[in-house]
Amino acid sequence: LKRKRDDEELAALEKRVSEFDLQATEFSQLPLTKQTANGLHRAHFKTLTDIQRRALPAALQGRDVLGAAKTGSGKTLAFLVPVLELLYRKKWSSLDGLGALIISPTRELATQIFEVLRKIGCEHAFSAGLVIGGSGLREQRAALHRMNILVCTPGRMLQHMDQTVGFNLDNVQLLVLDEADRILDMGFRTTLDAIIAGLPRSRQTLLFSATQTSNVADLARLSLSNPEYIAVHEAA
Ligand code: ADP
Ligand code: MG
Repeated sequence: LKRKRDDEELAALEKRVSEFDLQATEFSQLPLTKQTANGLHRAHFKTLTDIQRRALPAALQGRDVLGAAKTGSGKTLAFLVPVLELLYRKKWSSLDGLGALIISPTRELATQIFEVLRKIGCEHAFSAGLVIGGSGLREQRAALHRMNILVCTPGRMLQHMDQTVGFNLDNVQLLVLDEADRILDMGFRTTLDAIIAGLPRSRQTLLFSATQTSNVADLARLSLSNPEYIAVHEAA
């Protein structure tokens, strides 16, 4: 009976996603699962920032997004909310393996993203892991195959793809490239290309950047398909 009720709720949610109001200004107006809505509420997130208001509709509807907005504009929730929602709507379970990969330039930023994910995702059943350099390669290796969502830095991620036996990325539905400009500035272009080459092509990709550079445009051409372009400029 619970299964039937869940299926009905899911069908209703899918319907709301397909027809929802693009002018939403608050999280409560978005078609979100109650798990995500509760997580956001508990963390006291209520009003959408500009980048969230503009990126979330497209991202929630499964589009690729190229989003540019300065530091501090709220990009983290613009991709973490779609990560949780997409996997939930696909009925992702522990058996489905890795469903979403979030790549961040530095350990510090990856750790921050992971903390926000833990907070707003606390009512979801997904397993999430942090894969960064400097911390136990072996422990990460043992835990990797159980993870549904990974937040990682490029170097360590590629190391696992090359060396960790049985680490399977064939099921990845969603790739997030956060601070793409900085990832490229740090010299990770080749690493990033190798990671992307190891992912399924049929995934959704969300690419966020603080600045719009020609390097970011190059990366976008390679990694996105028919993206929604969103640039939020500072009010004068
Ligand atoms: P960016 O990645 O664009 O630099 P962050 O996602 O790190 O920005 O968010 C910057 C700050 O704004 C964080 O402290 C975060 O908690 C806060 N924030 C993000 N979205 C909202 C929101 N909708 N309402 C209130 N505060 C928010
Ligand atoms: Mg950020």
